[in-house]
Amino acid sequence: MEIEINLAEPEKRKTFDLEDLPFGKIFTPHMFMMKYDIKRGWHSPQIKPFSNIELHPAAIVLHYAQTVFEGMKAYYGVDGKIRLFRPWDHIARLNHSAERVCIPKVDPELVFNAIKILISIDKDWIPKKKGAALYIRPVIFATQPNLGLKVSDEYLFIIILSPVGAYYKEGFNPVKIYVTDEYIRACPGGTGNIKTGGNYAASLKAQEIAQKKGYTQVLWLDAKEKKYVEEVGSMNIFFYFDNELLTPELTGSILPGITRNSVLKLAPTLGITVKERKISIDEVIDAIKKNILKECFGTGTAAVISPVGEIYYKNRSYLINHGKIGKITKLLFEYITSIQYGEKEDTFNWTITL
Ligand SMILES: *Cc1c(COP(=O)(O)O)cnc(C)c1O
Repeated sequence: MEIEINLAEPEKRKTFDLEDLPFGKIFTPHMFMMKYDIKRGWHSPQIKPFSNIELHPAAIVLHYAQTVFEGMKAYYGVDGKIRLFRPWDHIARLNHSAERVCIPKVDPELVFNAIKILISIDKDWIPKKKGAALYIRPVIFATQPNLGLKVSDEYLFIIILSPVGAYYKEGFNPVKIYVTDEYIRACPGGTGNIKTGGNYAASLKAQEIAQKKGYTQVLWLDAKEKKYVEEVGSMNIFFYFDNELLTPELTGSILPGITRNSVLKLAPTLGITVKERKISIDEVIDAIKKNILKECFGTGTAAVISPVGEIYYKNRSYLINHGKIGKITKLLFEYITSIQYGEKEDTFNWTITL
């Protein structure tokens, strides 16, 4: 399928101050769009000036949340080259998510091409500062007007680009996380392991409570026993104790993060022992009390690696590593970002240079 290209008016293509960027509030002048219907399948892929979209008020996505998305980044390297980090893995996960909520799969090659062309058109919008990047957000949603609960016959696939600075306003500084034993995010057999809108709507209430208490994000426990650590709002979680790096094993209700996977692959090559296993919150709190839990961090495309300096659980708050960034956390952050910005050789073949 040929991608049709229509460019925005020159005055709409001017960039502006890319210095002090918020996360996900500024968008580049172009977007990708493709439609699906039962008869034609995916068709009419096009790149066009960024604009609002029109939706029927009965569009299935608005009522029943049949939708999936991805989040990946393009980095402006120290050598002036643009790199995508594991784009094929993100596209594969988009299709895996789509399958779970009965959304028809998209052609990975077409998606990759669309991203490549879109970025080449809006390349002046990639911030050049280390830590900043161009966030790429593909989203697919059900557009058929129908108030009956059914699988939609029509979809829209959109890709938008947003220049972003560091994810947390704290920067690469420890964040405080809040363990909820009241709400749950995802349950066995549910949709916790895919990126679908409803998961995030379900997480907002606990997030609001956490923020009111001064915490950045929620740390979720398993739905069944509220005993095992699962993940943070939009990040997977790692703990370093007893000279081992631990992360919860994928249970089906945890999002299989690509940054998580990168840490699992990278750490052993740096001499760090890693394990995926069930980790109970009691074990974590106990290890903090005994001072054997040395470090804790979250992983995700948006923040890459985010040190955790404080955990709140059952009316008490606990400092980790005196609230400071740990050595392993810093090492992994610097290693991965060095690959992303082309400072270190990418021996894992994670990046694709555009
Ligand atoms: C996207 C996401 C992550 C992180 O995944 P990455 O592929 O590393 O960006 C973790 N948890 C949730 C709930 C997410 O939505």
